[in-house]
Amino acid sequence: MSDVYFTKKLDIEGVLDKIFFGDVSGQRVGIKVHFGEKGCTTFVPAKHIKRICDYVEKRGGTPVLLETNVLYRGERTRASTHIKLAKEHGFDFAKIDILDGEDGVLEEAYPVGLAHYTEAYIGGSLKKYDKLIVASHFKGHILTGFAGCIKNTGMGLATRKGKLRIHASRPPLIRPLKCNKCGLCVKSCQGDAITLGFIPRIDKTKCQSCSRCIALCSKRAIITPFWSASFKTASERIVEYAYAVQKQHELIYLNFAINITRNCDCMGRAQKPIMKDVGLFGSKDLLTVDLAAWERVKDSGHEFRSKNTVRYAKKVRLGEGKYKLIDLD
Ligand code: SF4
Ligand code: SF4
Repeated sequence: MSDVYFTKKLDIEGVLDKIFFGDVSGQRVGIKVHFGEKGCTTFVPAKHIKRICDYVEKRGGTPVLLETNVLYRGERTRASTHIKLAKEHGFDFAKIDILDGEDGVLEEAYPVGLAHYTEAYIGGSLKKYDKLIVASHFKGHILTGFAGCIKNTGMGLATRKGKLRIHASRPPLIRPLKCNKCGLCVKSCQGDAITLGFIPRIDKTKCQSCSRCIALCSKRAIITPFWSASFKTASERIVEYAYAVQKQHELIYLNFAINITRNCDCMGRAQKPIMKDVGLFGSKDLLTVDLAAWERVKDSGHEFRSKNTVRYAKKVRLGEGKYKLIDLD
């Protein structure tokens, strides 16, 4: 049985006192966050993440804020604009490392060995960090029902290639009416998979699902076929990515169940919270920190869809699955 610490008053330091790694003198401590898409207002506020950074520094470590680039076109597609947006959202108090680099291609293959994957494509500089804190916003998600630490670890640390392979079971598609046949994607495609004849198309026998073309098409003519992977498949793939990371790193987990919205922080618009704030959950156990937050949120009035993620996370033993909730207030 795992311990999960809870505080309605957001006693971040109190939770960290219970789950922190100990002395981290001279170590680099990566903090996986989500800076919020442009227009999003309900991501975990920078002031809370700063308290985590201050705590790490008091224990002798160097905190670095970690993220990866997103699959779709936008401010968070490239490291430079991603960092600029992060600073606009108040994350200007610590170094930021976009783990897959400016173009989203810096990656490391982590072994998995489960039903969906033999390897997972993780942001290339993650191995530089001695310890990891996954600081997540607990809320709803179109694909997985809810999103907390499993999603932030699995999808959140994946490169764009990894994200494409989680989201879709077939290569990207070109929307002919959006394409102006500029040829940029053809030049960058290492699989020689794109042709711009009368109807531009991607040859699925040649495409390596690297996702580069999606990121570089300024006309947003190349899209991810989200419908090609079921909710169940995509949820299980995220669990496998989280599993791969967990096997290679020492992590602790925080779920901020505040500003709880129906959809995730990748939505480029302000969303209204659907319920009152619940509080902060912290644990060394990935599955149970999500389970505890999910159950407490349900008790407080909203039941997010969860069975695909939770059932598979239990199956691959992402955590204990049973927990003792310890209230720190
Ligand atoms: S980059 Fe976009 S607009 Fe240019 S040829 Fe490729 S799909 Fe068409
Ligand atoms: S995903 Fe990669 S390999 Fe496939 S068409 Fe696009 S650039 Fe080429």
